[in-house]
Amino acid sequence: MIGFILFVIGAVFGSFLNVVIYRLPRKMSIVNPPSHCPVCGERIKPYDNIPILSYIILRGRCRNCGAMISPRYTIVESIVAFSFLFGYLRFGLGVEYIGFVLLTLLLVPIAFIDLDVMLIPDSIAIPGIVIGLLVGIFRGFVVQSFLGGVAGASTILFFYYVGKLIYKREAMGLGDVRIGALIGAFTGWAGWLISLVIAAFLGSIYGILLVRIKGGDLKNEIPFGPFLAMGGYAVYIWGSSILKLFQI
Ligand SMILES: [Zn+2]
Repeated sequence: MIGFILFVIGAVFGSFLNVVIYRLPRKMSIVNPPSHCPVCGERIKPYDNIPILSYIILRGRCRNCGAMISPRYTIVESIVAFSFLFGYLRFGLGVEYIGFVLLTLLLVPIAFIDLDVMLIPDSIAIPGIVIGLLVGIFRGFVVQSFLGGVAGASTILFFYYVGKLIYKREAMGLGDVRIGALIGAFTGWAGWLISLVIAAFLGSIYGILLVRIKGGDLKNEIPFGPFLAMGGYAVYIWGSSILKLFQI
């Protein structure tokens, strides 16, 4: 029952994050105007704006004009809803859980905004670093958390300058420095390094698939934020087991 309630709360938060992901990079107000269909402009009725459910009931179409609505919104809502539920099953209700929920609410908009516009939003990432350090204090993890933040920022900075030297272009955005610091603050320095390895691994697979499918070489930069987010997310959940594996 608690799990179900948390799932619903997560879906509602996910719905709000959809608005943030769409409007923040466009510098639009988060509260106004209310949600509307991007095709016909019809305002979406409250009963058609229920996270996840409405999409299924309306079979992904606008009630007014029948235009297809991107499944993205429902995907984001599901990620957050399942995270709220899964975190509860993994950590129970406590400071670890609150940390996990906060990490989800920070990483989901950062990853999707980076995916859309190749930009890490400062207004989420910088408060996110502070939140990560605060969670570290409450988890009795303060030194690790601080070192993690420093390690996260400095490794990305290192790759940024090395990339510039070797490839004469920016292989990595400076925005990634902030997301590195954020993930490090949440996972500690050892956790950060594992996050980075996971991110590099997933990013390479994505890059190879992209070349295979689209052909040619990788002219377009791949946003690294979503992969870092996935790495940090996995490490927060399974980090203690992974670290035991390497006996760190
Ligand atoms: Zn419509």
